[in-house]
Amino acid sequence: MDMNLSTFSSEGDLEVKGPYKVLILGGGPTGLSAALYAARADLEPLVLTGMQLGGQVAITHIVENYPGFPEGVGGPELVELFQKQAERFGAVLEFDTAVETDLSQRPFRVKGYNAEYLAESLIIATGANPRQLNIPGEQEFTGRGVSYCGTCDGWFFKDKDIIVVGGGDSALEEGTFLTRYANSVTVVHRRDELRASPVLQKRAFDNPKISFIWDTVLTSIVGNGQVTGVELKNVKTGETRHHQTDGVFIFIGHIPNTDIFRGQLEMDENGYLVVNKFMETNIPGVFAAGEVADPHFRQVITSAGMGAAAAMQARHFLEDQTGG
Ligand code: NAP
Repeated sequence: MDMNLSTFSSEGDLEVKGPYKVLILGGGPTGLSAALYAARADLEPLVLTGMQLGGQVAITHIVENYPGFPEGVGGPELVELFQKQAERFGAVLEFDTAVETDLSQRPFRVKGYNAEYLAESLIIATGANPRQLNIPGEQEFTGRGVSYCGTCDGWFFKDKDIIVVGGGDSALEEGTFLTRYANSVTVVHRRDELRASPVLQKRAFDNPKISFIWDTVLTSIVGNGQVTGVELKNVKTGETRHHQTDGVFIFIGHIPNTDIFRGQLEMDENGYLVVNKFMETNIPGVFAAGEVADPHFRQVITSAGMGAAAAMQARHFLEDQTGG
């Protein structure tokens, strides 16, 4: 793999902060768990939270599969608990987003909007963002009928007819949640078999407000200031038709936030960072954890576990550097 050095430039008058023993990029469950473990190891971590403290879980209505909360816990509430626990041991959260990195030598350099940060070790926990369909109308109507978050936007679709695109856990979980508001939810899936887990499938099949259109993709989203319908194409027969709808919720997977590491860190063909079981990337001292390095599990608990593991390894790395 050809690893070019980054084009990181220091011009401008950004304040330079650090070096921090541990700098954590991302304030989701992964980053905040890494912060908790690093703080308890007296490594005084700094967390750059990114745009949204808590990441994807902050916009999740309820988390039912994080142990310790038998009745479930609200996503934002869980984030607040993670934050409090990390801060209690001395982690510091900074509301800044990493926009450029230079990992060619230590201390590593990370440029944010507010400052440049130096780090003896780096834990990347930048997560992933929703994948888009990339069809006509999708961008134009985002926020005007097109959404990637049921928890955020469901309320706007009270008594409306909506479609959900996708056949995975997210599509069925969010689709089921959206029946609280919507009059009807039509799941449009490109195959005739769902990818989602059996428990979520059963819940959806049992819900009288949910119906399915199989073997079908959206070719465009249309409207008049607001979504009024979609063009559908049956992938088996080639038949096309118009389908009236008030909203389109898209849950077709995620894309990892790794652009700022391109050419420096090893990635797989989908852009996920490659790590070994110690959360180590190809650069010593740079660790990656959670969804940015995990296209498979993508759970709050697995991400939190990976974050904790990365912090433990960062501690070992720093001890090795100082012979401590
Ligand atoms: P996913 O499992 O990757 O499913 C994506 C779905 O979108 C698939 O059904 C896929 O179709 C479809 N799709 C992908 N690209 C498409 C395109 N261009 N056009 C139309 N359809 C497209 O993603 P996810 O549902 O977000 O789940 C990701 C991970 O998070 C999974 O590991 C899942 O188990 C986990 N998760 C778990 C929970 C939970 O446990 N409660 C909740 C949410 C997510 P195909 O099936 O044909 O590939």
